[in-house]
Amino acid sequence: MAKGVKAIRGMNDILPEESYQWEFFEQTIQAWLATYGYRNIRTPIVEQTDLFVRSIGEVTDIVEKEMYTFVDHLNNDHLALRPEGTASCVRAVVEHNLLYASPQRLYYSGPMFRHERPQKGRYRQFHQVGVEALGFVGPDIDAELIIMCARLWEMLGISGLRLEIGTLGNAESRALHRARLIKYFEQYEDALDEEARRRLHTNPLRILDSKNPKMHDLIAGAPKLIDDLDEESRIHFETLQHILRNQGVDFEINGRLVRGLDYYNSTVFEWVTDRLGAQGTVCAGGRYDGLIEQIGGKPAPACGFAMGVERLLSLMSECGGELLRPVPDVYIVHQGETVIDFAWKTAEFLRNEGLKAILHCGGGSFKSQMKKADASGARYAVIIGDDEVLAQQVTIKSLREVSNQASVALGAVVDLIKNNRNEKSN
Ligand code: ATP
Ligand code: MG
Repeated sequence: MAKGVKAIRGMNDILPEESYQWEFFEQTIQAWLATYGYRNIRTPIVEQTDLFVRSIGEVTDIVEKEMYTFVDHLNNDHLALRPEGTASCVRAVVEHNLLYASPQRLYYSGPMFRHERPQKGRYRQFHQVGVEALGFVGPDIDAELIIMCARLWEMLGISGLRLEIGTLGNAESRALHRARLIKYFEQYEDALDEEARRRLHTNPLRILDSKNPKMHDLIAGAPKLIDDLDEESRIHFETLQHILRNQGVDFEINGRLVRGLDYYNSTVFEWVTDRLGAQGTVCAGGRYDGLIEQIGGKPAPACGFAMGVERLLSLMSECGGELLRPVPDVYIVHQGETVIDFAWKTAEFLRNEGLKAILHCGGGSFKSQMKKADASGARYAVIIGDDEVLAQQVTIKSLREVSNQASVALGAVVDLIKNNRNEKSN
C-alpha cells in the first residue's frame, strides 16, 4: 500500500461526530449577531504580509515567530496566511470605503493560522469569530461588545467565565508609561530574559505579556499603566465600568492586561475560564483607535474582539452542554424489481413534508438494510417491497421503541412521525 498522507501538525480535521456541534455553534452565533445588528464580512485567508506586520506590530510574538509567510513566485508578492481577522477586516473596510456614510457593526468567522507549539486549546489552524464596531468612539460601544458576549455565554450554556477589563489609555498616556517602564526594567537589565532584553527599547509593553515564569516577579513590580492614565482615558474607562455595573455584568480590573497585538489602545478585555487549563482565554478584544488610519484610511475610532471557537466548544462540553446528535427521521429500506421508483418518490415526498429521510443506496438483503437503518440513528424505518407498491402504501416500523410495524398511506407516515416528534418535545 502506498504511504499515507497525513494532515499537518496542529491543523485538525473536524469529523461528522464533532461537526454538528460546530454547526450548532455557528447557527447560534448568527442568530446572536443578528439580534445586535452586526453584519457579516468575508475576507480572503491570504493577505500581503505587510498588512499584519504593520498592524499587529513588528515586535510581537505573532509577527516575530508565528506567521505562515511565503513568496508567491508567480509575481514575487510576499504573502501570509492570516493570523487574525481584525487587520483584514479593517483593510477591507478602508479599501471599500465602508465608513463613508455611517459607522459599521461587522463580524467575521473562519480559520486563522499561527505557527505555535500545538497543545490542547492551541493549534496552528484554529477558528475565530470576530466582532468589530468601526467608527464609534465609545465607551458605549465598548460596553455593548462586552454585554453581548455575556448574552452569548448564556445562549451557549456556558457559565463561570470571568471578565477582566483594563485600559491602555491613549497615545499620550502610553508614551508616559513606556518611558517609566523602560526606566524600571533598565534597573533590572541583568534579570531580563533574552526576549525581554531585545524588546526593552523597541516595545517594553510587550515584556508585561511575557509567558516566562522567571519574569513574573519582576513584571509584578513594574509600574502600572492604570496609574499613568490621563483625564480623558480615565473617564472613558470609568464610564465603561459604570455601564457594566448598571447592566449587572461582573468584572475584575486587571491593570496588567496587555494583549498580544500592538494595535490596541484604551479599553482591553478578556473572558477567562479556569476549566481549560493553561489555555484559559476564550475571548479577547479592545479598542484600536489608530489602526484604520495606520492602514491608510481616514482616522476613525474602532473596537472589537475575537473568540476562539475550539476553546469555546471545549468549554461547552465542560459545562455539560452536550448536544444530541442530529438523527434522520426515516431510513427507507426497499427491495424488489418494481419498487425503486416508488421508493424514490416516497423519499422526496417525505422531504417535501420537512422530514429528514435517508434512501438506502447500494442494494443488499432486507436484513442488511435494516442493520444500516438502525446504525443511521433514524427513528423509523419505512419499508417498501412489491406488496407496498401494489397497495401504494408503505410499512413503517419504529427503530427505537418496541412496536408492531404497520402498513399505512404516505400521508399517515408524515402525521405519525411529526406527532411523535411533538410528543417527545413536550
Ligand atoms: P493566547 O494568550 O492564548 O495566546 P492571544 O492573545 O494570542 O491568546 P488573540 O490573538 O487575542 O489571542 O485571539 C483571540 C482568541 O483566539 C484567544 O483568546 C483564543 O481563544 C483564540 N486563540 C488564539 N490563538 C489560538 C491558537 N493558536 N489555537 C486556538 N485558539 C487560539
Ligand atoms: Mg497567542
